[in-house]
Formats: sequence, C-alpha cells, structure tokens
Amino acid sequence: MKSLYAGPVFEMAREQFHVIADHLGIPQDDRDRLLYPKRAIVVSCPIHMDDGRQRVFVGYRVQHHLTLGPAKGGTRFAANVDIGEIAALAIWMSWKCALADLPYGGGKGGVAVDPHALSMRELENLSRRYMQEMIPFVGPRVDVMAPDMGTNEQVMAWFMDTYSMYQGITVPEIVTGKPVGTGGTLGRREATGHGVAFLSFRALEALDINPVGATAIVQGFGNVGTHAALGLAARGVKLVGVSDHTVAYHDPRGLEVRALVDHVEKNGVLLGWSNEAVIDPRSLLEQPCDVLAPCAVERVIDADVARRLNCRVIAEGANGPTTPEADRVLAERNDGIFVIPDILCNAGGVVVSYFEWVQDLQQYFWSKEEVMDRLERALDRSWSMVVARAKRDGVSNRTAAMAIGVERVRKAKQARGLFP
Ligand code: GLU
Repeated sequence: MKSLYAGPVFEMAREQFHVIADHLGIPQDDRDRLLYPKRAIVVSCPIHMDDGRQRVFVGYRVQHHLTLGPAKGGTRFAANVDIGEIAALAIWMSWKCALADLPYGGGKGGVAVDPHALSMRELENLSRRYMQEMIPFVGPRVDVMAPDMGTNEQVMAWFMDTYSMYQGITVPEIVTGKPVGTGGTLGRREATGHGVAFLSFRALEALDINPVGATAIVQGFGNVGTHAALGLAARGVKLVGVSDHTVAYHDPRGLEVRALVDHVEKNGVLLGWSNEAVIDPRSLLEQPCDVLAPCAVERVIDADVARRLNCRVIAEGANGPTTPEADRVLAERNDGIFVIPDILCNAGGVVVSYFEWVQDLQQYFWSKEEVMDRLERALDRSWSMVVARAKRDGVSNRTAAMAIGVERVRKAKQARGLFP
C-alpha cells in the first residue's frame, strides 16, 4: 500500500524507526501503531495579497500521538513543505519529547510558502488564517504549536491572538515561543542553540578536547545556528565556517561571530558579509573542524558527505540532518566521530517550550537563571541516559536516544491498552 506520507523524508523516519524496532525486538503489529500518525490535517488558507489579488496556500498539521499528553511541535513556513515531511518531523518530535521525559506527544505543522516573498501584512494574514483553520483541531490540551523554520515569535503572537479572539479570553498556553511579555518565557529564543553548544561541550569533554581553541563549523544561521555559534564562541571555540541558504564562508583563522550576527540582524542573510571567505556550501561540511553543527534542513549529511567528513563531533541542531545511509557510513568508518543525535542535541527548544507552557498554565513566571538552570539539568539528564545506553548496548548514540524515546511511548501505549 502506498502511504499518504510517501517521500524521502518520511522514508528516512520510517527506516530509522525500523532500525530501533529491530533493536528492541518490537513485533510487527505494534510497529504500525507506533509509527503512523494518529491524524493529519490539510487546510487551504486563502488570503488577501497586497496587490488586491487572492492566493491560497496549503497548510498541514500532523499529530503523531497524544498518548502522553498534547501533541507538541513547531510550525514551518517553507516553499517545499509537504505532508510526508511534516509527518516525519512530527514523528521525530515524539521521540524527542519522550527522551526528554516531557508530558507530550509529537506534532508538526507547516505551510507551503516562502515567507521571505511575503510582505509583513501578507505574513500576518497567512499566520492568522492558518491558525483559524486549525482551531477545531488544536488546544492547550490537544496540540501546542511553536516556532520552526520560517516562523518566529511574531508569528506565534498572531497565532495566540487569533485563537484567543475566538475563545473570547487570552489563552497564552495555546502556543509556545511567544514574545516575552505576551506569555513567552525568558530563554526560549536562545534555548535550542544554547543546548546545541552545551551538549557540544559535553562531547568535547568526553573526547578530551579543550574547547578553548577548538574549531567549529555551523551550517544554517537562523535562530538555532546563531545561538549555537554564540554559545560555542562564548567558551573559546573558534568558528571557522558558517553558511545559510544564500552563501557559505570558510576561514581557518576564524570568523567573528558577533560581527556575523550583527550583519544578519541588519541584512536578514549572510550574503554580502565578505567576498574573501566564500566557499562551496557542500564542501564547507567537509572542512576540518572539531564540531560540525548542521542547523538547517534535513538530509544534508548523506553517504557521500559522511565519507568525507573531517570533524570529531556532529552536533545535530537541525532535525534529521543525517541520512540512515550516512549513519551506516559513520559506523563503518569506525574513527569515533561522536554524533549528538538531533532528538537530544536540539531538544533545548522544546524543553523550554514545556517550561513556557507550564508558566502560562500557572500564570507564574520564572527568572532567566531558573529557566537556563533547569534546561541544563534536563539536557544533562538526557545526555547521561543516552551515553550510558549506547555503552551498555554497544549501539550508536542515535540508536540509544531513539530507543529510549520509542520505548517510553510504547510502554505508555501498552499500559493504557487499546480503546475500545
Ligand atoms: N520546532 C522546534 C523543534 O523542532 C521546537 C518545537 C517546540 O518547541 O515545540 O524541536
């Protein structure tokens, strides 16, 4: 049977899941129940454009499971989004939330649109219409959205306002990643990147590499990549390469992170910062460095790239940056490249989203120190579990991390039984 979700990204999530299911000895009957999403919603979002015309954008939301609590996950605005990719991302959210021991299932949403091609007014129209179409299917106890690629705090504020206007009351707990002062939490903006840097230091420590003078390459310079680079630089790591969808730069003498961030804040993209350090984006990944942090899109480290990698640590800030074939190449290389798998490495975002939701529900807000301290403790706990499990079972960090996540969801499903 051809699945509704068929496509390269879903295929990747499926293949990864079967590796884990084989490892855990999960019977075939249980596999479909664990893997296939509980429900998928597709909506048309008609909006007024600035030129007076109307356009319709397709929006998606996939709720993978709600066994442990509401579905949780970001909403992505990107031109090539489709239902298979969103389903894969929702599945990854499930394992990520379960590994971090959050009371959530996995969800993900998206709209097929290039957000940079819209004016501010058009972006607001689209954000509001998407949320309005989702109202029958979401709720603070059903499905809680957050930012992802192409969305930000402003989009979350519009989502929250649209939902709240329909309810007639302010419902901040309907989305996370909102602006501070509108129910958002301190620390959410930097949480994912901070976590990527924090766990990179754990990996360097494990490999006995001093962060001071170590080198890093960061692919993707959106919210995650920016804060990962800043976090790494704060402890003496030298950034030798960086890229976004417009350009890639490489300079073994080091790039000035603060200047790059300022440039992006002013110009929106990395392009135009320097003419000297430009490099082919794909070969950037293969340059020598201690930490390679892919913080952009899925499937950038394929088998070919994996063969040519020249790093000690892969810190997966993006979701799904490494293909299963690349995982096999890394295992064969047997030269000890330390992979911090996505569902561990970028979990800082959803962990602090959880803190935001808790604060909204309680209407009691924490200091930034409290948020960051709890975040680091949560990441340390997951880190220790993954490293111990990988060692105990003689498996990769990815297999260990996913096994913990899948097992938790499976146990909850078993305990609750099958209804009716
Ligand atoms: N979009 C982010 C992720 O992929 C954050 C999700 C959230 O905070 O709910 O993990």
